[in-house]
Amino acid sequence: MSVSHTAVGRDKSVLPENLIQSLEQMWTEALAATTLTALVVVVLKGVRRLGVAAIAHVLEERDRQLRAQELRCPKCGGVMRRDKSRRKVTRMTLLGKVTYRRTSFCCRGCGHREFSLDEQLSLKELLRGHSDEFAKDVVLFCTVMPFGKGCDLFTRCYGFVVSTHLARALTLAIGTRLYQSEMARAKELWALRERRPETFLPLPATLRQMTRHQRVYVMMDNSKLGFQEGKRGRGAPQLKTLRKLAQQAKRQAVRAAKRQKPGPAPVPVMPAEAAFAEADGWKDVRALLIFREADLAQSSKDRREILHRRVLAHVGSQAEWLQLVHLAFHEEGVYTAHEVIVVADGGNGIWEMVDELLPKTTFRTVIEVLDWCHAASHLWTVGRALKGCKTEAQRKACIAWVMPLLDDIFAGKVANVVQRLRKLAPESTTAADEVRKCIDYFTDHQGRMRYSWFRKHGYLIGSGAVESVHNWVIQARCRLPGMRWSEAGVNAMLRLRCAWASSRFDEEFTRAAGGAAPADDSSQREALRAA
Ligand SMILES: [Zn+2]
Repeated sequence: MSVSHTAVGRDKSVLPENLIQSLEQMWTEALAATTLTALVVVVLKGVRRLGVAAIAHVLEERDRQLRAQELRCPKCGGVMRRDKSRRKVTRMTLLGKVTYRRTSFCCRGCGHREFSLDEQLSLKELLRGHSDEFAKDVVLFCTVMPFGKGCDLFTRCYGFVVSTHLARALTLAIGTRLYQSEMARAKELWALRERRPETFLPLPATLRQMTRHQRVYVMMDNSKLGFQEGKRGRGAPQLKTLRKLAQQAKRQAVRAAKRQKPGPAPVPVMPAEAAFAEADGWKDVRALLIFREADLAQSSKDRREILHRRVLAHVGSQAEWLQLVHLAFHEEGVYTAHEVIVVADGGNGIWEMVDELLPKTTFRTVIEVLDWCHAASHLWTVGRALKGCKTEAQRKACIAWVMPLLDDIFAGKVANVVQRLRKLAPESTTAADEVRKCIDYFTDHQGRMRYSWFRKHGYLIGSGAVESVHNWVIQARCRLPGMRWSEAGVNAMLRLRCAWASSRFDEEFTRAAGGAAPADDSSQREALRAA
């Protein structure tokens, strides 16, 4: 028969006094609570208080044990001398702020100094010594929503305040680490491709032994994000002021030019800050979406939902993007799939990249599909240029002209449509221009517009899924009113958003938090400064 703690008697209880007090306080408050809600709130608060007190007590107890031992230096093996005073520290955990005191030890031989208790707890410098599960939730909240809102929600959920400063620092530190490690992996894999290209195009014998995906969709698209270069934050000139300054400089230059005698107009002299307003602007965000046919589920009669996806988004050079896409293709088994269907618009560089990364082989079918909506929009532009869209009659004429052609394209008769476009004799030069552009576009992409054949084989013909990725993964967090990003800051955030959207947040967080510190953390500092 075991003896319970209470049976030992209050004087000899193994529980420390402050824990018993906390428990008793919770008990009294719970007895006084009448409604169920009040009861739950009281118990929840009490449990947190109890937990924080228990952790602090355990830690102080461990430090006391460390003081009693003779510690050896982990570097040189010499005897460690302990400081007399014990220093106080506060660590954030999901239970709340835990404050404890610990002893600092110093090696007599090599001068190495450490808090041995902290070393035992395997605290991470990247997380500023706070606990992993706390940092993971703060970073997740601030990945899903803006920093201020994320901190508000965190306070609501866990009952204590976390500063936006800390939340931002943790989020960007993890994001930057993720970005750096992914970029490094992508570079490594790219180097391997150049050395041994056959790795990514296995022999038929090897392929037969592999589990290969049946049908994989790859969708790509670009969108824009606002960027601001130069000084930011308190004391930095407002964007509005910068624009005003730039305009003023231009106006002055024009006036000066008018006053002067004939000759070449002088170049306007810009104030130094105004140059930022000029440099500042929009940059391309490239996005990639990969999912398997098996990941599609019929959510209603004419809607299919993607259950599992891999999302990738990046701001930077085309070379970096190529390496990142290569990494994603490799990890998601696109290279070894039986059938790869690429859906994209006519955007710059997309089809060239597909040609480079995914050449057709006897063991892999690659089907290129031009996004249906983009194809249709070209026809609508021509229709508006020919028939006009100002009056109701014009709009009706435009619809009447476009619809039959759209039906033809949908039925796969692109050659017929191009022929009809060629026969047109538009009156205005703008209309002639639009017609010519449309003919060029359709001729370029004719092979990617076999829509009736695609539909017969059950392929998706719209890249709406990747366009919605732009909306809910990228723009919903990075393109909110007044938001301006630096390249380092946005890439850190995009990496976190992509991990979250690809349902890989936990594993990516653990990998980033546990990994070794990067040799150069200058870009992390840059991200922190700019975001
Ligand atoms: Zn030492």
